Amino acid sequence: MGGKLEVNHKLVEELVREALASRDEICGFLLGRMEGGCFRVCELYKARNVSLASATSFEMDPGDVYEAHAYAEKRGLDVIGIYHSHPSSPSPSTTDLKCMERWPVAWLIISSIDGSMAAYIAKRGFVEELKLQLA
Ligand SMILES: [Zn+2]
Repeated sequence: MGGKLEVNHKLVEELVREALASRDEICGFLLGRMEGGCFRVCELYKARNVSLASATSFEMDPGDVYEAHAYAEKRGLDVIGIYHSHPSSPSPSTTDLKCMERWPVAWLIISSIDGSMAAYIAKRGFVEELKLQLA
């Protein structure tokens, strides 16, 4: 059975707008709840991309990573995923695949070329695409 990622269309529009407008990759967290096999996104938490000298990779500001978790807890939400943009198609890079293994939450990738997006999750050695559902 495949999992899915449910996101409000307003949050999606916000993400796409930000990705298309940014010169660097954007990144942040998806806050919400896990219900059965469904990741339900309630809020976005933007993080600073501190990856230097590259517009084609991302590394979150460690302070933002901490703040995102503290904020989620205060709101009674979980950090259920990570989002970032690519100046190409929304498929995981080799680095992404490695990071996904280490961080098995939902990974949402947005193309800053055309605003298309796809979501994935790592599961014991393989990566599954999550069905994107706009609410
Ligand atoms: Zn990536």
